[in-house]
Amino acid sequence: MITIQNFINGTYVPPKSGEYLPNYNPSTGAKYSVIPDSDSRDVEEAYLAASNAFDAWQKTSSEKRFIILNRIAELIDEQNDKLALSESIDQGKPLWLAKTEITRAAQNFRFFATAAMQFQSDSHAMEGHAINYTLKTPIGVVGCISPWNLPLYLLSWKIAPALATGNCVIAKPSEITPMTAFLLGEICNQAGLPKGVLNIVHGLGKKVGNDIVAHSKIKAISFTGGTNTGKHIATIAAPQFKKLSLELGGKNPNIIFADCDFEKAARETLRSSFLNQGEICLCGSRILIQRPIYNKFKAFLIEELKHYTIGDPLLKETQMGAIVSHEHFEKILAYIEIAKQEGGSILSGGQAVKPIGFENGWYIAPTVIENLSQNSRCNQEEIFGPVVTLTPFDSDEEALALANDSNYGLAASIWTENIKRAHSIASRISCGVVWINCWLLRDLRTPFGGMKQSGVGREGGWNAMNFFSEQKNVCVKL
Ligand code: NAD
Repeated sequence: MITIQNFINGTYVPPKSGEYLPNYNPSTGAKYSVIPDSDSRDVEEAYLAASNAFDAWQKTSSEKRFIILNRIAELIDEQNDKLALSESIDQGKPLWLAKTEITRAAQNFRFFATAAMQFQSDSHAMEGHAINYTLKTPIGVVGCISPWNLPLYLLSWKIAPALATGNCVIAKPSEITPMTAFLLGEICNQAGLPKGVLNIVHGLGKKVGNDIVAHSKIKAISFTGGTNTGKHIATIAAPQFKKLSLELGGKNPNIIFADCDFEKAARETLRSSFLNQGEICLCGSRILIQRPIYNKFKAFLIEELKHYTIGDPLLKETQMGAIVSHEHFEKILAYIEIAKQEGGSILSGGQAVKPIGFENGWYIAPTVIENLSQNSRCNQEEIFGPVVTLTPFDSDEEALALANDSNYGLAASIWTENIKRAHSIASRISCGVVWINCWLLRDLRTPFGGMKQSGVGREGGWNAMNFFSEQKNVCVKL
């Protein structure tokens, strides 16, 4: 049994309560580690370490910050096998997928390491009689709270820009997937990150996560997770005027026009539906298909899913691993029941799976549902699992109306060979990320985030660097 500890002031320490929570391997359903049940005392200890480290870290040259963050990236790459195995066991995702995500976590550190060297102040001359310059300074101690679906990748997406801009961080990974964040502490020490610059506190979101958000001296919160949690966090952070970045849920449409490259659109739709068991905020969960190819597209999905391999995440051939927790497994199955009650027809999947040797794990067959009304719960609420709905449409306007008829606005993908149509739909769709003839193609420089209930603010590139900075304009009369 592995005992995870908090990482405070460069040292692994037990929680003040002395209490631990169970952590499960989703592929077997077995408890395999314990994590600290931290509380406000641990947050206070982390805050003291971070605030003591802040002055020296903010004065550390950008070149030195670059060297340390880049070293963290190199060490993550060197330890890819170990980290990926830990992520796969902890989260339930296939090992091959975990390996690519660990590579992407290293890329996050590398990207923001170089950004530290390029981050600059702006200057604006006022027609010869004055000049403005904008100072960008770190905020101080900031909180980074991340979810369980892409554990190290999403944690590094926040930590890296926060550190690159000279802040000290208190990070809280999901209590459901703590393992790679636990291993990151050691990597930071190996890379020479000064003590207290990064502190990682484990435990329940509603307890220690809440304590981080409520702490009066933690001046910014970068949060990725569910919309309801985001709403709650906003009610605590807003009255304290904290800087707040919220990356929340989605119910993303894939719009498939009859003039698309069928093979590419259909194969990529399979991937965007079921990669990581459908547990990616960017997964397309509402598949809108133009009527002339509706039946052909549906038949393709059903046929392909007959051969889908679900089971042991550590096997090379596994396409879908286990659902992250028993609670989430039950939630997804409950949504499938709701779909049936709402008149939906299950075309594929629709039930739990018990792979041989893994009968106690939490597996759900990739599920495709049709005949649901637009306002059904399964077309409106985020399920965040391997469940997609199919809906036919006739015209561009109808596709757009269906796509935009959602409280969420995170991502969309559009499949058509007609470039005018693609740009027209992209410009009118209400979401933060649009892919045309692709999915999950990410450039770390681009703004990333959602509209409506999918979030507030944008991360990525200079957006993240600016979020973690205070900007002060100085105007000089000449
Ligand atoms: P969650 O909201 O339950 O938890 C996210 C994190 O917040 C965890 O670390 C959790 O411990 C913590 N937390 C929970 N309650 C808290 C509170 N009261 N105060 C402070 N912290 C608290 O989300 P989840 O179930 O871990 O993740 C799934 C959700 O995340 C989905 O809705 C998914 O769409 C969303 N997500 C969004 C993005 C994005 O970029 N927009 C990316 C990945 C996941």
